[in-house]
Amino acid sequence: MNIHEKFGLKRVINASGKMTILGVSKVSDAVAESQKAAGQTFFEMADLTVKSGEYVAKMLDVENATIVSSASAAIALSTAAIIGQGDLYHVTHSNTSRITKREIIMPKGHNVNYGTGVEVMTSLGGGQLVEAGWANECTPEQVEMEITENTAALLYIKSHHTVQKSMLSIAEMSEVAKKHDLPLIVDAAAEEDLYKYYNQGADLVIYSGAKAIEAPSSALIIGRNPYIPWIQLQNKGIGRAMKIGKDNIIGLVTALEEYLANGSESKESMIARLTPFIAALNEINGLEVKMVQDAAGRDIFRASVKVVAENISAKEVIAQLKLGDLAVYTREYQANNGIIEFDIRAVDENEMNEIVEKLSQIMPA
Ligand SMILES: *Cc1c(COP(=O)(O)O)cnc(C)c1O
Repeated sequence: MNIHEKFGLKRVINASGKMTILGVSKVSDAVAESQKAAGQTFFEMADLTVKSGEYVAKMLDVENATIVSSASAAIALSTAAIIGQGDLYHVTHSNTSRITKREIIMPKGHNVNYGTGVEVMTSLGGGQLVEAGWANECTPEQVEMEITENTAALLYIKSHHTVQKSMLSIAEMSEVAKKHDLPLIVDAAAEEDLYKYYNQGADLVIYSGAKAIEAPSSALIIGRNPYIPWIQLQNKGIGRAMKIGKDNIIGLVTALEEYLANGSESKESMIARLTPFIAALNEINGLEVKMVQDAAGRDIFRASVKVVAENISAKEVIAQLKLGDLAVYTREYQANNGIIEFDIRAVDENEMNEIVEKLSQIMPA
């Protein structure tokens, strides 16, 4: 009996992208095998933490790195690390009133909900979030005017979830950080470029393991010393509640090696796989289908399906795609405009045929 049958779960085709609600991504055979090998042996875990981080840092040519359980944990741990400054007393008394420098400054338009709120994680790490600027605007001056003697760090969220317009850049945020001798944390959880933000001066850069890198549940923090060892010290404190397994540490390293060797799927390959899919979708009554590029300009191409039938709306089509034994998840952001997007990064040819079949049944003849 397979896992879906055992628990009575639906089979899912993920045409929505790297979504946490569906289990984010699938690992390769090589990653799964490395997880198996790690799961079936012992390590001195503190040593594995330090040495796997150093190994990754060398691969990426950065000062240091560490692997933790999730990008959310990484935000909380980075906050706690910077507040505690490597002080073991703080690690075991995280709410101690001995430490007053707890303020973390972030543009207001970055305090988003990615499944939970950014502020939930800075609070978990003992930080007091200070929002700079307005919901739709943040300048370097607006960040600077929030800096006080209690400021511990600056935080920048690089994501399609945040407000994009009238926001200072990471390079500008980094200048403010340097001028005031403050560390800059960048949450780049879903980003693909592992070099850019570090090179722009960030002290800690956070990547979710299961998103672009397609690792098992994990996160990678790259950055500078002493912040990385201060994060590792949290394993004796709140980090224990966010412990990552040895199998997932090794899985992330293997996935990262594959990611650096092969990158994400190329634009050419994605377009070649999409072309016959789009042709087949265009044969279905009531649909007008074309290829579109990612709105944020990434090299991701998708099938954009406009529902033009009179008697069924895009929202109804989306709902029906999830019904039955096979649930098809799509990108729903433009459903209000009658458009459904299919992201094929995790969809193979057989699954594309299943999508065409399911849509043919849903659409009125
Ligand atoms: C996905 C995401 C996170 C959380 O990542 P997890 O590894 O699931 O905790 C944090 N920040 C941003 C911007 C994200 O997109």
